[in-house]
Amino acid sequence: MHEVSVMSSIIDSVLEELKGYQVERVEEVDLTIGALTFLGEEQLKFAFEILTKDTLLEGSILVIDTEEVEVRCLSCDYLGPAEVLENEGFHGMVPILHCPRCGQGIEVTKGKSCLVRSVKAVEKDVPIQG
Ligand SMILES: [Zn+2]
Repeated sequence: MHEVSVMSSIIDSVLEELKGYQVERVEEVDLTIGALTFLGEEQLKFAFEILTKDTLLEGSILVIDTEEVEVRCLSCDYLGPAEVLENEGFHGMVPILHCPRCGQGIEVTKGKSCLVRSVKAVEKDVPIQG
């Protein structure tokens, strides 16, 4: 399951980031996942639940934002959503992206993201020693 390895590296980077803070618990982790990553939201949430056990992230809420696909046409400078044609020869899994204006090949500008947008954490109440 691809989602598990992706989620595993996301969690690693979040935990690494949190090392610099006195974190008591984490309430929420927000992700931005591009539509072209083909990562299943349910699978990601499932992987998150399993992988955060016994870590600082245990019990936190995973919020997933989908980034829609945006493309730039190399021929006519079109910028916007792509025309997606299912490639039926390959289990329908890999769509072919075309420029909706001229039908030429395009460059993907948005939709491939897989990143942590924000983490809501509660810092420890550290008593001030006087
Ligand atoms: Zn075009």
